[in-house]
Amino acid sequence: MSVMAETTHAAATDPAIGTLLTSLEKPDAWSALTADQCVVVREARRNFDRLTRLPAAFVREQALEASRSYHAWVAARENDDFRAFAPHLEKQIDLARREAAHVGQGDAPYNYMIDKHDPGMTAQVIGRLFDELKAGLVPFAKSVLDSGVRPPMGLLRGFPADRQKQLLEEVARCLGFDFSRGRIDISPHPFCGGNGEDTRMTTRFDEDNPLQSLFGAIHETGHGLYEQGLPAEDAGTALGTAAGMAVHESQSRLWENQVGRGRPFWRHLEPRFRELFSKQTASISSDELFLAINAVGRTPVRVEADEVTYNLHIILRFEIEQRLFSGELAVADLPGAWREAMQNLLGIVPADDREGALQDVHWSGGAFGYFPSYCLGNMLAAQLWYRALDFLPGLEGDLENGDCSLLLGWLREQVHAKGRRLNLLELTQEVTGKPLGPEALLRYLKERYGPLYNLE
Ligand code: ZN
Repeated sequence: MSVMAETTHAAATDPAIGTLLTSLEKPDAWSALTADQCVVVREARRNFDRLTRLPAAFVREQALEASRSYHAWVAARENDDFRAFAPHLEKQIDLARREAAHVGQGDAPYNYMIDKHDPGMTAQVIGRLFDELKAGLVPFAKSVLDSGVRPPMGLLRGFPADRQKQLLEEVARCLGFDFSRGRIDISPHPFCGGNGEDTRMTTRFDEDNPLQSLFGAIHETGHGLYEQGLPAEDAGTALGTAAGMAVHESQSRLWENQVGRGRPFWRHLEPRFRELFSKQTASISSDELFLAINAVGRTPVRVEADEVTYNLHIILRFEIEQRLFSGELAVADLPGAWREAMQNLLGIVPADDREGALQDVHWSGGAFGYFPSYCLGNMLAAQLWYRALDFLPGLEGDLENGDCSLLLGWLREQVHAKGRRLNLLELTQEVTGKPLGPEALLRYLKERYGPLYNLE
């Protein structure tokens, strides 16, 4: 890993790139560029400057430590031994600070880490958005969790993996995924990688939890649709690159939640679901099944969380990252701080650190400032959804007929085709007509979950 990192770094910081950029930035040359070409040069300059400020030895050390830290995390999680992982986490925070210092942002290392994932975002902006979200979401989540309505999860058992695979391929195709430029395979943890010409998605199958596999696959398909929608002719430049992690996540979440878990699309999907799994679903009513796909429950584990409580898991991580970077929280005290925050936000305490501070892979690889993008993506997804409903009359009828082309076409034009021309905040304003905020997400959650959980 460290050899690869150093080799890639050497190529990306080749002085010839700097010479070319400088020549393009001269007033005569710059004024002859189109607006799009200016975006390409601007983003290339940003990347080049950051990378050239990182010494090769630092890049090597960082990759080596990330690899060591990952393996230490795997073992620590298995043994529920946070103390074995703590020195590695300290090292990762130190490396993040040093990286920020190398690029001249040593006074605000956490902001630097956030900006790496979502250009233009800061901890201050996120903190304000999350505080607003928290004020509405904590009481709402509590009322859903305490409603007494219990989704019938235990009824869904024995769904053969081969049929699950068949279903999700049909669904991915229905959403618009192009299998001539991508594929789905199996891995322990679902992800989507590659690029628009070769999009690789993975999923996993649990015979007793078919909904997790199905909606996980719809989620990854949303990522894949974004990659496939980026302008192919601009691949490799800012114009053909996703706008950032939050925008990426808005695409996966929109398809997974607003579309996939919504009534209209589920009306389309349910008959096929029952056809493929007739024995397994024979005793489950339609209402029960719809409640099951929109099940809300208390879990200490982020990746198992539903879309109501999920955002609370993210707020917890954001607040802890801020405290780790400000020095207010020592790594050694992290497990306790985690348990306390979990109790405050969700009213539960993890049984051990495997379900607490050791559950996520992100920090072991130095991916700080990454978690907020999941929640920012949820906010954008809800804003895009309401905008789409306004702009696309007949959208819900189309979805009920299994026709996703109208929505996909709109997202292609409004989001995918823009590449990295706009950052998260600019894109949200331009496409939805409003600044990024939690109002649409809260409205959506209340509209979806209020009736299902008998809330006023
Ligand atoms: Zn995702």
